[in-house]
Amino acid sequence: KVRVRFAPSPTGPLHIGGVRTALFNYLFAKKHNGDFILRIEDTDQTRYVEGAEEYIIEALNWLNIPTDEGPVAGGEHGPYRQSERKDLYRKYADQLIESGNAYYAFDTAEALDAQRKEHESNGKTFIYNWHNRLKLDNSLALSEAETKARLDAGQDYVIRFKSPQDETLPLTDIVRGNMKIDTNVLDDKVLFKSDGMPTYHLANIVDDHLMQISHVIRGEEWLPSLALHVLLYRALGWEAPQFAHLPLLMKPVGKGKLSKRDGDKMGFPVFPLQWKTADGDIFSGYREDGYLPEAVVNMLAFLGWNPGTEQEIFSLEALVETFELGRVNKAGAKFDPEKTKWFQNHYLQQMDEGVLTAQFNKFLENKGMRPTVNVSVVVPLLKERATFISDLWEQGSFFFEAPKSYDEKAAKKAFKEETPQILNKVVGLLHGTEDFTASNISENVKGWITTNEIGFGKVMMPLRLALVGEMKGPDVFEIISILGKEESVRRIEAAVG
Ligand code: GLU
Repeated sequence: KVRVRFAPSPTGPLHIGGVRTALFNYLFAKKHNGDFILRIEDTDQTRYVEGAEEYIIEALNWLNIPTDEGPVAGGEHGPYRQSERKDLYRKYADQLIESGNAYYAFDTAEALDAQRKEHESNGKTFIYNWHNRLKLDNSLALSEAETKARLDAGQDYVIRFKSPQDETLPLTDIVRGNMKIDTNVLDDKVLFKSDGMPTYHLANIVDDHLMQISHVIRGEEWLPSLALHVLLYRALGWEAPQFAHLPLLMKPVGKGKLSKRDGDKMGFPVFPLQWKTADGDIFSGYREDGYLPEAVVNMLAFLGWNPGTEQEIFSLEALVETFELGRVNKAGAKFDPEKTKWFQNHYLQQMDEGVLTAQFNKFLENKGMRPTVNVSVVVPLLKERATFISDLWEQGSFFFEAPKSYDEKAAKKAFKEETPQILNKVVGLLHGTEDFTASNISENVKGWITTNEIGFGKVMMPLRLALVGEMKGPDVFEIISILGKEESVRRIEAAVG
């Protein structure tokens, strides 16, 4: 059975790259009728950030990516927080020591630092491995009795993996194909620390095994750990899952990886939800910026994947149908905020008008507005030019509040000496219109204009300005009809002064 997991560390807000990883895991799982599991990797207490786990869960909820198992959903393979699985890992570290695949190391941080510096001054990088491990302070270099004495005395230690020497290790990745690595370049990574906590590597392998994960789908930044992970599975006598490393997300312009600060610099979010740091910094989020989750999901799906056809619009369900890991690219995926806007525009235009109206009503409510006009009549008139709900307000705030001033340039053109007289006549015509529909109003006003040969601009320009405050908006008679007789007359009289 296909079982995949999204395994974020709660070290801060989940950025868009993390969400992409979650999405691809979800799509792959659902495509194969499998399970999508959320596991919180919080073994590194020093990097734990308050609120990060809640943020992750809220972001997945907002994007409509449900988990089959996880800290909230529960499940048979829990607990799903590594800090709550703490007691489980030690025995696997011991097992690795016993089988000769791991060893105790007593090197102090200072001693390791000194090694690093010494190597650097000779133009080399210090790797803790076969090459020099016998010269360092660990149980491979010490006698058994000495090792035992130190452990009994409570000396600080870590448990390191013993990378094999002189081996060419084959590696397979669904995205990258077959690779090979010379095990002599591998570091003897720390698996367990004396604070009783496993490191990421050990906990990750143990949990993937115990949770029966079939495919590990994660960001390319973990590719360098693949060899160690494959070796750990082998050393523990377990079958390894299949791996797929997703391409890096790149900056929209220029070179390099997309960074958390890029959003601020270029004015678009790189986080699903807004995040406030402990220092009060605010990172903007797609949700708060008014994006629809469907637009964000559609955009994310195309970061490193494509369906191989021209089709660009995919609902989550359509993605589940179409998604294939085999179509994930190796090359870095350029993040494209403009494209996100394009998707956003599409999904807003597609939105059910009742839903759109309800959301706009909410928006107005948050602004403290109590609309006196029928919002469901206004929305269809404004929708075409809107990408965000807030654009409905940009386009049509005049439906809800009278203009406080008039666009200066337009006013100069529109308000002439004869304007008060003209507009007063229009007021009279409005009073005389019984059935206050746009077509009735239009007929009356236009009829009067034609009979008196006044010139449309002389009437329509000041009229629009009086009602809207600017030369924008839908058909003037439509506006008058929606505002109603009383409000329209009030605005025209206010403009005439
Ligand atoms: N905890 C790791 C992370 O935050 C998980 C990596 C993996 O999926 O193996 O990305």
